[in-house]
Amino acid sequence: MKTHILGFPSIGKQRELKQALESFWKGGFSADSLAETCTELKKRHWRIQKNAGLDYVSTGDFSLYDRMLDILCMLGAIPPRFAPCLADAPLERYFSLARGDAGRNIAALEMTKWFDSNYHYLVPEIDAGVPWTAGLHPVVEDTRLAKRLGFSPKPSLIGPFTWLALAKSQDGTKWSRLDAVTPVYADVIASLAPCCDCIQIEEPALCTELLPEDTAPRFRKAYAELNAACGGKKLMLATYFGPLGRNLELAAGSGCGILHVDMVRGPKQLEGVLDKLSGDTALSLGVVDGRNIWKTDCQKTVPLIKRAVSALGSDRVLLGSSCSLLHCPVDVTAETALPEHISNRMAFAVQKCAELSALREIVERGNHAALNENSAVLRAAAEHPDSRVEAVRERISSVTESMLSRQSAYPERHAAQAWLNLPVLPTTTIGSFPQTPAIRRTRLACKRGDMPEAEYIAAIRREIQDCIRKQEKLGLDVLVHGEAERNDMVEYFGQQLGGFCFTQNGWVQSYGSRCVKPPVIYGDVYRKHPMTIDWILYAQSLTRKPVKGMLTGPVTILCWSFVRDDLERSEVCKQIALAVRDEVQDLEKAGIRVIQIDEAALREGMPLTSAEAEIYLRWAVDSFRLASSGVADSTQIHTHMCYSEFNAILPWIAKMDADVISIESSRSRMELLDAFTEFHYQGEVGPGVYDIHSPRIPSVEEMAELLRRALRHIPKEQLWVNPDCGLKTRQWAEAYPALENMISAALRVRETLGSAV
Ligand code: GLN
Ligand code: ZN
Repeated sequence: MKTHILGFPSIGKQRELKQALESFWKGGFSADSLAETCTELKKRHWRIQKNAGLDYVSTGDFSLYDRMLDILCMLGAIPPRFAPCLADAPLERYFSLARGDAGRNIAALEMTKWFDSNYHYLVPEIDAGVPWTAGLHPVVEDTRLAKRLGFSPKPSLIGPFTWLALAKSQDGTKWSRLDAVTPVYADVIASLAPCCDCIQIEEPALCTELLPEDTAPRFRKAYAELNAACGGKKLMLATYFGPLGRNLELAAGSGCGILHVDMVRGPKQLEGVLDKLSGDTALSLGVVDGRNIWKTDCQKTVPLIKRAVSALGSDRVLLGSSCSLLHCPVDVTAETALPEHISNRMAFAVQKCAELSALREIVERGNHAALNENSAVLRAAAEHPDSRVEAVRERISSVTESMLSRQSAYPERHAAQAWLNLPVLPTTTIGSFPQTPAIRRTRLACKRGDMPEAEYIAAIRREIQDCIRKQEKLGLDVLVHGEAERNDMVEYFGQQLGGFCFTQNGWVQSYGSRCVKPPVIYGDVYRKHPMTIDWILYAQSLTRKPVKGMLTGPVTILCWSFVRDDLERSEVCKQIALAVRDEVQDLEKAGIRVIQIDEAALREGMPLTSAEAEIYLRWAVDSFRLASSGVADSTQIHTHMCYSEFNAILPWIAKMDADVISIESSRSRMELLDAFTEFHYQGEVGPGVYDIHSPRIPSVEEMAELLRRALRHIPKEQLWVNPDCGLKTRQWAEAYPALENMISAALRVRETLGSAV
């Protein structure tokens, strides 16, 4: 069996690519130095793969910014709004597409999440009638280099169907571009073929419902052309992020020499795949999870591999990572501070390469010692008293149906919340206020141990005081404490919950040069102590207006962490929900009777097919309800969500049964409001009236007009006025006048509505 990975993280063990890019952008680094850093990283990553015993090293996985953008440049699909950049040097033009061109006032390509991962790609924009002039793809040069250096490269490209499926076109004509796209791919494939045995074409869109109904004939035709361009070498059609489902036959019969399937996300597809695989097509089993940080459970995986080998023979089976290792950090040996029972069960990209060789050993040479050791390590880790907390398990098993419901239905709750005495169109914010350099310094000093706790508390209290004063002066109706103590809305809670740990270097690329270091959920989750009460109570002590308690919801905490893989995600989510529920109830007991539970990630955590999405939404909504329902009718529960395309899941959002939801919507306002016309939503809604992602200060009239428009879709009794997300990335000089205008807009519209409800 040959072994390979679908891709290695580009960013580098010490985030070298990040540093090189950022210095280049600042002008402190020449294009040559940038290229040199990149070449060193590529070589290092190839050596890691070769030393791990993999048969191929991956090329075309390394991108200066983004692989969707690399294909865009290969196709020459430059949107016309970038025409002024066309004459620039290719590197400058590349970065203008990625980051915008401030000098010429051209906004960057839009960015969005790569399927259900936390990686963001740049969205191609396709305008009808605009001619494309094919350009270069770095994979060709990189593959030649790898070959010259004595590696056995396996070049990779994002496939034409996935690229087009993710592109946006105003007039829906994007698929007509296929005939122009295929020959460009064919040319690149033809120039790669002499340097390699096989070429990886990635079509994760095959595991989703993104491809149009009539794709099959086009797909067969295009892939016939691509296969013909291979010059006797093989194409590896790589599918991932789910089982192939309805596209199984199409993928299995593509004529490509190798089909790669994701056995982590779709282990049950094996029999179907074996059944449908045509002729002498080889099968690559994606058995090592590219989306997580845990060692492979060989006991589970080996039987799948053996089954494929017995059906196809070992020379028709390859072992690979489920998807690119882009989504996991680089090297676990850089983690020196984690308890052994946790680091023992971890495998980052470097370790995952070695796991593939080990799996081959186990299957081909019957290396029982390795198999037994793997089981022993994983069992010990899962049973470690920090990982399995009996009290948590007992509490979970005693969760009853009634804990998922508020005491009364919304109309009664609404009446019970009249004590809030809010005006019509109440104004509020989403939680965070500008995180000034002073706030960051304070938190850093505390983290480093340079500031005594009492001093830290006093400093944060001063920030809270300042924030409350400003909100009172602005005249907001429901106040917040401003979140000065929080570096990140998930990390803040993870640091205070049992079952979480934090890596020192577990960075994962989010987009371009940006990386995130997600918290790790390794064990049963429980609340050790109240997490927010003191800050919120302090804030409330400074004002007679209601202050909203501010919590992150269970689904969001789950989605933005690396989650243990020895327990169902739904179970882990329930554990987090109970911890949040405790906090909600403590807030209520302390007299905080407006509580917001943010579920920023609810939509993005959705699996890629409707059947799976439904299962997910059911437990996700239940987790939110478990977290939020343990309060009196008179306590008002808010939630906040940050995404725009949620029309399809509005009924699920309604099932969350929050009293008030605020939604990011200023960029796709009409769509959002239409959804409220079509679906009768009972509760109160705050569709964001201004985009906090931009420094622009919207005018009073602009926001008043948005409110008037919103009132055509949402009854006045149900409408709230707020920005579309938290203000932490803004400066006070932007946030304050924007909020002033927002409040004036609310007043202006209130006047036309007459008296309060
Ligand atoms: N309460 C959080 C904030 O205001 C919400 C952030 C988010 O939705 N991403 O920062
Ligand atoms: Zn938000």
